[in-house]
Amino acid sequence: MAVVQFKQAPDGGRVLHTQHPGTLAPTGSIPVDGPAEVAAAMARARAAQPAWAALGFKGRRAAMERALTHLLDHTEDFIDVIVQDTGRSRFEARFLEILPACDALRFFGKFAAKALKTRRVGMHLLRHKSLRLEYRPRGVIGVITPWNGPFILGVSPTVQALMAGNAVIVKPSEITPHAGALVARLFAESGLDERLVQVVQGDGATGAALIDGGVDMISFTGSVATGRKVGEACGRNLIPATLELGGKDAMIVCGDADVDRAAGGCVFGSMVITGQFCCSTERVYVVEAVHDRFVDAVVEKVAALRTGTEGEFDIGAIIRADQLDIIERQVADAVAKGATVAVGGHRVTDHGGNFYAPTVITGATHDMLVMTEETFGPVVAIMKVADEAEAVRLANDTSYGLSGTVWSKDRKRAVRLAEQLDTGSVCVNDSCVTYGALEAPFGGARNSGVGVTHGVDGMRSYCLPRPILVDRIAPTEEMVWFPYQAAKEDKIKKAIAFLWKNPLGRLLS
Ligand code: NAD
Repeated sequence: MAVVQFKQAPDGGRVLHTQHPGTLAPTGSIPVDGPAEVAAAMARARAAQPAWAALGFKGRRAAMERALTHLLDHTEDFIDVIVQDTGRSRFEARFLEILPACDALRFFGKFAAKALKTRRVGMHLLRHKSLRLEYRPRGVIGVITPWNGPFILGVSPTVQALMAGNAVIVKPSEITPHAGALVARLFAESGLDERLVQVVQGDGATGAALIDGGVDMISFTGSVATGRKVGEACGRNLIPATLELGGKDAMIVCGDADVDRAAGGCVFGSMVITGQFCCSTERVYVVEAVHDRFVDAVVEKVAALRTGTEGEFDIGAIIRADQLDIIERQVADAVAKGATVAVGGHRVTDHGGNFYAPTVITGATHDMLVMTEETFGPVVAIMKVADEAEAVRLANDTSYGLSGTVWSKDRKRAVRLAEQLDTGSVCVNDSCVTYGALEAPFGGARNSGVGVTHGVDGMRSYCLPRPILVDRIAPTEEMVWFPYQAAKEDKIKKAIAFLWKNPLGRLLS
């Protein structure tokens, strides 16, 4: 049961054939791009980028506004394509792809001038110089994306990179190529020079060709295993990369949590986009005192979820067919090791495509795959713990570190627990919504990533920070220039003593 297949074209090239994951109806075919197509895209991007950079923030922001208007005018067309590639509901396509794309276009359009404008930095030692710090565009950014957020995970880095003055080449996942191509379509249809946002299609070979094809930076979102390969390839090419990778997010439910809200948050956090969310709630640690009440509420809510392909439904298809095998293997492993399937735990065949029933596992322990490996499906595993300290210890017992959540009516206590989690972000009393908080840098700790996107730090990563130092006062004498003389060395000695041997000097230095 495949969602994508590669077939040989008459000219010897490969063609990608796609299917709707919920119904397996064919949805089209796309020729695969190789190194030659990547090189042509690179040449076009290089030629267009300098004029785009010269346009300045105001001109670039106007282009984002035009794209936003276009997206608002054609939302339903864009949703049609996203739904076809992902099998998710129009509801989810609207709030998880269109809404954040609109927000990214508007927010980064405005925010770029604040985050990236050239600024003067006060000097502490070399006070006779002025430091001008500019954020120069890197040039051409390669954006490699996964299949779980095929539009937004392309749009967001693209908008940030564009606002920083770069051109962009996107390589969408081969599992969702039509939705990935919408990124270029959005900008082309809203009047942007088509060379500034291009898409190359294909699998890992095309992604690898892009990294080796002369780009100046890679923004990668995907799995840990591929992230390692991408990091290695970027190292070989001596180009920077941000790597937004997988997770195994933990939820901590304290003894004083609002149990019903926490249960609702658990169900949403674990089942949204059918659990195929990098920040999915996959492991839940519940303090003994509220465990049974919490489990009952979660099971009741999960049992009410509706799978489907059309109209009103909650749980869409599993986008990637072979993901079903991973989910099945993890659930079977948990059961074999003593866990209970409280609800779900099987495939759903009603709709003709790839479905797994929303599943709650109780009595989970850390020797089970469902507590240690990324599931990426509609499965949540719950474990009873003695107290919050045990919950924190277990939450940190992982190689991942993307995000996590803490639930308690005592916000100060929740923040103290959040501080102890070794993750890129934490949410208190909500499912992970950090990706939607564009002011916040988003990235993973440990194996969940390198670098961040969003926020000031994310935007600056698309730039080369370049200092220009200018003399404010012409120096009469250079103490450290040749020839080296005892008298000059004596002055250096005195300067060191003045600056760091007495309190006044330390204050000034
Ligand atoms: P994947 O790593 O299999 O593929 C991601 C992209 O990399 C695809 O476009 C693929 O074609 C490309 N690719 C594969 N091999 C490559 C190579 N050698 N060189 C260059 N590119 C290559 O990931 P996936 O299965 O598409 O996505 C699911 C994963 O993404 C999950 O682990 C999920 O947690 C993660 N993810 C992370 C975030 C985040 O922000 N941290 C967001 C969404 C998804």
